[in-house]
Amino acid sequence: MMKKVIIVGAGPAGLFAALELMDKAEVLVIDKGKNVEERSNGVQGVGGAGGISDGKLNLHPKIGGDLTEFVNEEKAYELIDRVDETFVKHGAPESKSSSAEELLRRAASSGIEFIPIKQRHIGSDKLPALINSIKRELERGGVRFLLQTNVEDVLISDEGVEGVLTEKEKIRSNYVILAPGRSGSHWLSYVMKKHGIPLKHMPIDLGVRVEVPSKIYEDIIEINWDPKFRMRVPTHDDLVRTFCTSPYGFVVQDPYGNAVGVNGHSMRHKRSNNTNFAFLVRIGLTEPVEDTTAYGYSIAQLATTIGGGKPLLQRLGDLKRGRRSTWDRIKRSYVTPTLQEVTPGDISMVLPYRILTDILEGLNMLDQVVPGVASDSTLLYAPEIKFSAMRIITKEGFKTSIKGLYTVGDGAGVSRSIVSATATGLIAAEHLIANL
Ligand SMILES: Cc1cc2nc3c(=O)[nH]c(=O)nc-3n(C[C@H](O)[C@H](O)[C@H](O)COP(=O)(O)OP(=O)(O)OC[C@H]3O[C@@H](n4cnc5c(N)ncnc54)[C@H](O)[C@@H]3O)c2cc1C
Repeated sequence: MMKKVIIVGAGPAGLFAALELMDKAEVLVIDKGKNVEERSNGVQGVGGAGGISDGKLNLHPKIGGDLTEFVNEEKAYELIDRVDETFVKHGAPESKSSSAEELLRRAASSGIEFIPIKQRHIGSDKLPALINSIKRELERGGVRFLLQTNVEDVLISDEGVEGVLTEKEKIRSNYVILAPGRSGSHWLSYVMKKHGIPLKHMPIDLGVRVEVPSKIYEDIIEINWDPKFRMRVPTHDDLVRTFCTSPYGFVVQDPYGNAVGVNGHSMRHKRSNNTNFAFLVRIGLTEPVEDTTAYGYSIAQLATTIGGGKPLLQRLGDLKRGRRSTWDRIKRSYVTPTLQEVTPGDISMVLPYRILTDILEGLNMLDQVVPGVASDSTLLYAPEIKFSAMRIITKEGFKTSIKGLYTVGDGAGVSRSIVSATATGLIAAEHLIANL
């Protein structure tokens, strides 16, 4: 008889773990959300946070999480190839890229690292069909889905894991993979602490969303749809990087609990005249306080207070001259903001001096490679914060100290993107299969 495996979370990590396991075990996937077509705009349900995302697939082991922390480089690339093949099989479009040589040269001569990577862009509007296609394959393979069901706890005895407790019943199994994503990370940390499994704080990324006319990015997105630039800025020697570039895209609000920040996305069938990208500084804390999440929230709350409940928007020219932006000044800019639910203001009232200096210096450096990016008209939205879940300390294959219990994906603090989350799901599934 086939052994039973419970997977909590139908996001990328949970779905790919299920794909790997479906011929080898009886798989039950539990998620508190709904099917992708019934979902409103939340991060819960089949497809997880990936289901409402832009579907930018960064096919590189060190982008969006670092897989080489957990497996060797050869294995990491093998996983990325398998993930890519699966996405293509279910409808992901061709990846386009022209030669990166000239851009590499331009970047290097300005002290900037450009990381050319293979990417695919599915687009928010195409993702539901792709997720449904994966779900249909799983169902054909015998995988069962229990949706709109909240898992409250994990059942553990001296022998190891014994199943999960939902709001309605106990479901028994000696193998459980927890993949609850960022939205379930507080719950996961709580359950892990309760069962004596160790965790640690991870760095966060803090900064702004930059919006510029799409024209100035056109030659670069021919090379990479989501170009990755990294640079060390002079004053603090901090690493500043671009993240989640959305060509012809839209800036959107991103709620952080009681506070609000920003994010951005592109769609395949609806275009703006602008391109936006996150410009971020990584922050890790040591003693006496390691809680990067609390630090990030306090900045988000300050921004929300100053913005009257909305994110802040400022023209770069106003920031450089030490004055706040107003709607009148924003209207004088060449760039029309794609997000109007903002408060024109002064982001130097919100971001710490060090971060602000890093961003200003970084934009000036990037201007050497992307001329026009540091012009007075450039729009800056703040704050953009990429929080990271606390990392669950696990052994090989993301197995916890409890026999049969695995934790993967963004909720376990081991990934930060669709591709890396799926890869962690595969790693745990492979380990589990070897131990069934
Ligand atoms: C707006 C937005 C845009 C993004 N754009 C991109 C992008 O373009 N490219 C990219 O690579 N990444 C993107 N990301 C990040 C990406 O979506 C995540 O990295 C990825 O979805 C993480 O996968 P996961 O499986 O770990 O978790 P999730 O996708 O978050 O899935 C976790 C699932 O677990 C369920 N769950 C949680 N707790 C419980 C519980 N107690 N009981 C039952 N079910 C539970 C949730 O309902 C959810 O469906 C974006 C994220 C957001 C929010």
